[in-house]
Amino acid sequence: MKSENTAQGAEYRSGFIAVVGKPNVGKSTLINGIMGTDLSIVSKKPQTTRRNIRLILTTDSSQMIFIDTPGLHTPRTKLGEHMIRNAKSSIRGVDVILLMTDARNDKIMRLDEDILTQAKQSRVPVVLAINKTDLVRKEALLPVIDKYHKEFGLAHIIPISAINGDGKEQLMEVLEGMLPIGSMLYPDSMITDQTERDIVAERIREKALTYLDQEIPHGIGVGIERFKLNEEKEMYEIDATIYCEKDSHKSIVIGKNGTVLKKIGSDARQEIERVLGAKVFLDLWVKVKKDWRNSLPMLKTLGFTDKPRM
Ligand code: GDP
Ligand code: MG
Repeated sequence: MKSENTAQGAEYRSGFIAVVGKPNVGKSTLINGIMGTDLSIVSKKPQTTRRNIRLILTTDSSQMIFIDTPGLHTPRTKLGEHMIRNAKSSIRGVDVILLMTDARNDKIMRLDEDILTQAKQSRVPVVLAINKTDLVRKEALLPVIDKYHKEFGLAHIIPISAINGDGKEQLMEVLEGMLPIGSMLYPDSMITDQTERDIVAERIREKALTYLDQEIPHGIGVGIERFKLNEEKEMYEIDATIYCEKDSHKSIVIGKNGTVLKKIGSDARQEIERVLGAKVFLDLWVKVKKDWRNSLPMLKTLGFTDKPRM
């Protein structure tokens, strides 16, 4: 056990940290920075992280399990509702809530207020990280910090920049100190609870979103039909389907002469090869499933189950 190496006899700590906050505040960027990998997807578009993903950071002094939640927002579709349920259930049963906000907002957002109220009810301590401080003047932060402090009595308010790493060390120290004393909950070689299939599907979705830009905001899902290691050829054979909601979307995803789909496929394949550490044959299809975001069977197919993943 690593806890034997713990410095100055301090006890080993371990626990769950739910990272919550509005879409686009930088949750995934922060977690990626902490983990030193990009296992959680970052995108300029909100709501890229759909499922709760656990990322596990094991050090000599602690094991911190970060839960990257999909952005909380007003639900409009079943997928939206599912995301919120997921995010809310991720607040329950954690040891610390890391609420992230954008330093450019000087008002307390309704959603952040909801989270803080909920945290209070469930008696989970909150750390507030005010992110993107690289975009504002230091003086502008003071009234914001003051407001949160006065209205919610938050003891830990830490300005950070997930992009350049400012404040990260202090944040990590505070978070670690708030975890209960206990031994590792996962083997120290494990860094995520995502399966390879999940990772592959997310890569494809990320690439598709990159190429489709604003055109098909969030109406695509990715299903993995086949995921097979061909041992003879030492390569993975993967069949995947991109689901969209309308025929017109399908033609956009495919592009003229299939150019868009080809680009999505070749970019995704290269990344998947890096993640899996082997050659990949990727067969990518596009299908229309009208209203898939409101279809429970479809959500199940795509891995959005109703069971909380905790
Ligand atoms: P999430 O939806 O909360 O997970 O947000 P993301 O991590 O996907 O980040 C959303 C956008 O904000 C991305 O374009 C990031 O590059 C950007 N971003 C995140 N953190 C910072 C920061 O500290 N400073 C600046 N300038 N941009 C940031
Ligand atoms: Mg995210």
